[in-house]
Amino acid sequence: MEKTTKPHLVLVPWIGGVSHIIPMTDIGCLLASHGAPVTIITTPANAPVVESRVDRATPHGAGITVTAIPFPGAEAGLPEGCERLDLLQSPADVPRFFAANKQFGEAVARYCCGASLPSPPSCIVAGMGHPWTLGLARRLGVPCYIFHGFGAFALLCIEHLFEHRPHEAVASPDELFSIPVLPSFECRVSPRQLPPFFSPSTSIGGGPVREMREFDVAVDGVVVNTFEELEHGSTALLAAATGKRVLAVGPVSLSHHPPSLDSRAMSEDARRCMAWLDTKASKSVVYVSFGSAGCMPPAQLMQLGMALVSCPWPVLWIVKGADSLPDNAKRWLRENTGVDGGAANNKCMVMRGWAPQVAILAHPAVGGFLTHCGWGSTLEAVAAGVPMATWPLFAEQFLNERLIVDVLGVGVSVGVTRPTENILTASKSKAYGSKDEADAEAMMEQVMKALERLMDEGAEGEGRRTKARELKVKAEGALEKGGSSYFNLEKLIKS
Ligand code: UDP
Repeated sequence: MEKTTKPHLVLVPWIGGVSHIIPMTDIGCLLASHGAPVTIITTPANAPVVESRVDRATPHGAGITVTAIPFPGAEAGLPEGCERLDLLQSPADVPRFFAANKQFGEAVARYCCGASLPSPPSCIVAGMGHPWTLGLARRLGVPCYIFHGFGAFALLCIEHLFEHRPHEAVASPDELFSIPVLPSFECRVSPRQLPPFFSPSTSIGGGPVREMREFDVAVDGVVVNTFEELEHGSTALLAAATGKRVLAVGPVSLSHHPPSLDSRAMSEDARRCMAWLDTKASKSVVYVSFGSAGCMPPAQLMQLGMALVSCPWPVLWIVKGADSLPDNAKRWLRENTGVDGGAANNKCMVMRGWAPQVAILAHPAVGGFLTHCGWGSTLEAVAAGVPMATWPLFAEQFLNERLIVDVLGVGVSVGVTRPTENILTASKSKAYGSKDEADAEAMMEQVMKALERLMDEGAEGEGRRTKARELKVKAEGALEKGGSSYFNLEKLIKS
């Protein structure tokens, strides 16, 4: 790329999971569509995820440089290729991952301060797990923005929890307490439902949590994948609570609008899913996905599966981690859904790989989305105008559920009250894998009830669909010229 004097934004996505890399890459694509040169820095194993999205964003992708800097995982004692937190196999590897990430930060700093970049950075936007970018930004004399991957309402709740610690005054981990951040809505959750930073036994450990919070407090601003009209004033309230500039630049999935249906870039399974959707009636399909890594205990998976095969709607179900299921659960899936060589099943289509989620949600056959309330998925459903049934698993997803169901009125809750254990919520002393023995919390009948409400053709269901359609229109308007997110992208470029 030729040397340039235009503002040059350097983006360093957190390597916590693909779901951090996807929206930051999309932010890069949006910034490039506004004419700003962008460099996205990642690790070799994560570069293909970034590159494939950048390639799909052509012609704007042409303004983006993707740089892969080696991740020193082996030096820290990590298995080969562990360049993302969600690829770790044991809670004991989590501290090693954070140690390697610090070394990675030193290599990124050497790169950014050398002569290899097309022009000096004008601004750094960094994922929440890279506190070392702050020192780099100060050394370069440029502003540093943080990107958490959370929505503004969840960030506002998290800010309140750090500052006022109401969860510490509650007697039991299941007792509900209030997070009074929105004037017209009482958000009630239990300590157990909070993100792992507030858990006494997270495998992240105190050091990285403290460093992330210090980073949060010290940055110049916050970039959020949302739009100002969505979260009932949460972006302005977050700016007031933190004293920082808060720039809502989403929904970033609309950077690929219309969603790419380039069948050459899709896996065979993905093409099969899209072809199957083409055979279904408008708004008839329930789409079921629990994010990039969401798994559940086998007993729970089977209760969910029984609801999905018995409900009256066609179902497209994305199952992750099927390889590590016990034999009885694998057999059940094969016999009941037609996956892995079972009899073809026109009613319940199961896909085990990476689903083209944005394209699926935009398909006219999809009438409802059973989701784990990850923020990326939530906003993609909002952008597509699809109502949700909510089943939070962990992280800030219980807060997102409150927003979807109680504030926005575009979802129905399955009624799950406890998080599903994962590598970050597991305590160090407990073997990861104990989840295999866990019982199901949501039984088949409970899941069926939520699906019935989701797909309801009466006034209640129609009310949710109308709200979802209205939000879709606002979401698209936010990124159009003159819209709030369009304006905030310009502000970020000029900062
Ligand atoms: N995703 C996808 N295909 C899959 C699973 C996930 O495209 O099979 C994408 C999804 O569209 C979203 C992201 O991965 O952009 C998941 O992010 P989210 O915040 O919803 O959940 P997380 O993975 O962090 O739990």
